[in-house]
Amino acid sequence: MTADSTSSPRNYSAPVPPSTPVPPSTHFIDRLQAATDAALSTAHHPGSSFDGASADLHSRLEAHVDALRDELVDLMLDLAAHPETAFQEHRSAQAIVDLLARHGVDAQLGVHGLETAVRAEINPTPASADDPDSPTNAPTETPTGAPVVAVLSEYDALPVIGHGCGHNVIAVMGLGAFLGLKKLADEDPAAVPGRVVFLGTPAEEGHTGKEYMAREGAFDGLDVAVMAHGYGYDLADQLWLGRRTLTVEFHGHTAHASAQPFMGRNALDAASLMYQGLGVLRQQTPPSDRIHAVITSGGDRASVIPDYARVEMYVRSPAPETLRDLSSRVEDVARGAALMTGCGVTVGWDQHPPSLPVRTNEALTGRWVEAQRRRGRNPLPRGVVSETLAASTDFGNVSYRIPGIHPLIRVSDSDVALHTREFAEAATSDLAKSGATDGAYGLAASLLDVLHDPALAQAVKDEFESAGGAIDVPGYFD
Ligand SMILES: [Zn+2]
Ligand SMILES: [Zn+2]
Repeated sequence: MTADSTSSPRNYSAPVPPSTPVPPSTHFIDRLQAATDAALSTAHHPGSSFDGASADLHSRLEAHVDALRDELVDLMLDLAAHPETAFQEHRSAQAIVDLLARHGVDAQLGVHGLETAVRAEINPTPASADDPDSPTNAPTETPTGAPVVAVLSEYDALPVIGHGCGHNVIAVMGLGAFLGLKKLADEDPAAVPGRVVFLGTPAEEGHTGKEYMAREGAFDGLDVAVMAHGYGYDLADQLWLGRRTLTVEFHGHTAHASAQPFMGRNALDAASLMYQGLGVLRQQTPPSDRIHAVITSGGDRASVIPDYARVEMYVRSPAPETLRDLSSRVEDVARGAALMTGCGVTVGWDQHPPSLPVRTNEALTGRWVEAQRRRGRNPLPRGVVSETLAASTDFGNVSYRIPGIHPLIRVSDSDVALHTREFAEAATSDLAKSGATDGAYGLAASLLDVLHDPALAQAVKDEFESAGGAIDVPGYFD
């Protein structure tokens, strides 16, 4: 006699009660937060040992940026009220061009291969002042030999939730930095001894707008590029992972799933084995690597062996070399799944160009930190906010071509995550309004320092070269 024979029989006609998802435990993220809270009291960025531009120049620059406050805030709110997604930022780009025009800057719209990209330049040198018809993107040597510096703005939004990544704030930080330097140059040409380039860079979210622009020469001839991103903390630097996209398609043979299953070659089986293979692979990859996959096609009717299945993926890693390694291991999993099931496989990398990780320039970061301290902020060094909480940005592709920084500036409470409706709300808050001018000044100040301090400019360059210099970004993963 078994226990089963004494229990009451299951009632198969009764409906199965629905169940609900298990709420994720917050213990791990709570521990990360506790570690950040503990580090906050002692963390200190070393700042900069370089002189940068003079205190007088910084005061004048700061006054110009602060005078722009109302216009920057108006545009920041206007962009938030009219969010546009990647490549569709026509209204936003035009609003930026219009504000530049109100300050006497003749910007180009639809440059470097993208309709919604913007470029403008300050060139107070006699070479271009004499020739107003010269194309503003033509590289010209500055007579002083000063570096050519650039500030970047993003202005694309997310579908459904609008400016949940705060690119409306990014837009005005970059624009405010450029206009602040423009005002300073107008007042005193010697104060801005070199070319300053403004680049409006569309399509960061889910795309790689800056890479498209780079391939059309946007960053050619530039020595430095800076931008800043809103966040829940002031961070001098943070990890940004490189990212690639991958589409894997499995091709099999259809068959009647009951009568002749042995005549089928099941593409869904291949996709399923690949998905499981990725799960196993995760255990043997560096903890900072990220693998995410969805099966977007896997058959239509259970009685037909599927002859087609598709897996869409992202892979991410903190260095170009490790991203390349991860890519080849993921590809092996796809080929292995195909081999096991007798299916064919096609592996399609990078429907959009890949994003590289951000290579931060420490010498330049130090100047950003000093400028932020002047504004009463205290950017935290790397590591205070856990690197587990890492995402990706197409600025990485810029940072492997020329030296650059992509610091974070506090525009929200620390418990508000990027890509949420709550962050979209924060991107119009009083914190965002002060972030707009603090960030604009910080970016402009960092560039002004490079323009006036040859030792800093050389250190920025030397650091970039000793980190490997410019790499062939489009050909890196070939
Ligand atoms: Zn984002
Ligand atoms: Zn963003």
